[in-house]
Amino acid sequence: MDILGGEKGRGGSERKIMSEECIFCRIVRGEIPSTKVYEDDRFLVFKDINPAAPVHWLAIPKKHIPRLSESKEEDRALLGDLLLTAGHVAREHGLGSFRFIINDGAGAGQTVFHLHAHILSGREMGEKLL
Ligand code: 5GP
Ligand code: ZN
Repeated sequence: MDILGGEKGRGGSERKIMSEECIFCRIVRGEIPSTKVYEDDRFLVFKDINPAAPVHWLAIPKKHIPRLSESKEEDRALLGDLLLTAGHVAREHGLGSFRFIINDGAGAGQTVFHLHAHILSGREMGEKLL
């Protein structure tokens, strides 16, 4: 089985969260308010509630994928379009430069288990991880 083959090898997310109770699914459904930056039928970009920079957005697929490493071959176009969408929205809003960060797993700092990319801009990104 290749790396995208879908054979369930690992334990999955640290804590299994159903989409009904997932915070970001609830934001997608409008059950929890958010400040939206962009929305279409497959993606939502909204402001992070606890911003770490003057611009701190979260770009998510509306589909409940718990984390990047649990995405599947069928998500290929969705993942590609998430990057394209983020790039276009950033450009439309004149960000100039930005960081695009995905935390995968609690050990990497992931706290919400619905795939999301952080878009950070508006301050010096001095700390270089690599
Ligand atoms: P993670 O730590 O999983 O990479 O990122 C989760 C992010 O979601 C955090 O930056 C946190 O501030 C943000 N967040 C958590 N709950 C909410 C919420 O209800 N609304 C919004 N807009 N952001 C949230
Ligand atoms: Zn979700």
